[in-house]
Amino acid sequence: MKRRQFLKNASLTGVGLSVGTTLLNCAENTSKSKEASVASASTKATLPLVIATWHVENATAKAMEVLQAGGNTLDAVEQGCRIEEANENGQSVGKGGLPDRDGNVTLDACIMDQHGNCGSVVYLQNIKHAVSVARKVMEDTPHVMLAGEGAKQFAISKGFQPEDLLTEASKTAWKKWKVEAQYKPIINIENHDTIGMLAIDKNGDISGACTTSGLAYKLGGRVGDSPIIGSGLFVDNEIGAAVATGLGEEVVKTVGSFLVVELMRQGKSPQEACEEAIRRIVNKPNSDYKNFQVGYIAINKKGETGSYAIHQWFSMTKFQGGVNAQIQSDYFNKA
Ligand code: ASP
Repeated sequence: MKRRQFLKNASLTGVGLSVGTTLLNCAENTSKSKEASVASASTKATLPLVIATWHVENATAKAMEVLQAGGNTLDAVEQGCRIEEANENGQSVGKGGLPDRDGNVTLDACIMDQHGNCGSVVYLQNIKHAVSVARKVMEDTPHVMLAGEGAKQFAISKGFQPEDLLTEASKTAWKKWKVEAQYKPIINIENHDTIGMLAIDKNGDISGACTTSGLAYKLGGRVGDSPIIGSGLFVDNEIGAAVATGLGEEVVKTVGSFLVVELMRQGKSPQEACEEAIRRIVNKPNSDYKNFQVGYIAINKKGETGSYAIHQWFSMTKFQGGVNAQIQSDYFNKA
């Protein structure tokens, strides 16, 4: 089931948790269920491991395959994200991503390695593997971030093939949206879901990547948190890494992924750090958190992991010790 569809069905029926075949109906590190203790107990045991936002087992499987074949974590997260970028049925990433309000598919992505190197692209059009362009920015230029037409021309110069990223399904969805053209991104929890992925190898070295088409039907030119190092993604190989999904504006305002990593530096577990970073958002005076979603996943040097969101239905996929499974995330808004 597609991530967006999963969210929709879950919120409509209230039974979403029972439909995933590999879904662990638990909140890692906080649930007392048997599945949860199995998930937690395995957390510290085995490296390498890969985690990703949402239900993306094909992507985590690819990343693990790369690690097991001797690839490094940078190769792993790039290859893992490319699976979803090429998946035309996923309407939030790469080809098939939902467009902005003018019908243009614009992609944001970033990548960061164990040495603190990073690369990013924003407002990239017609090139589906935004994460690989971000890696090229990191490796082949003295810069961190390229935007728009410059990013596209750079990608073409590196051999990426331009193509139309708007699929028939996404065009149909956009046309349907245009009938009312309500621009209220913050109240539509299912209108955003980024693929963020973190990998740690058997030596404890960590890389991360993040790729998205951003908010569906956003204003032309809008860029969220996902390509912004420190907001959508941060890797500090001394401590750990974090990646975000959800309403990017709220993540940017709290420099969310950097915050999660710094909280781990201060001694918090990945789970505690994700929870504190969510509290920073919801505890702001006049926070409108009931009307938007933000979720974090995190990993530390020991291979402990955590995930937390404002609302229900956020999940992470975790591949460790031969088990590739979706884990339902704990969340703040239980009212
Ligand atoms: N964080 C992304 C953005 O705001 C969207 C998402 O996670 O779906 O662009």
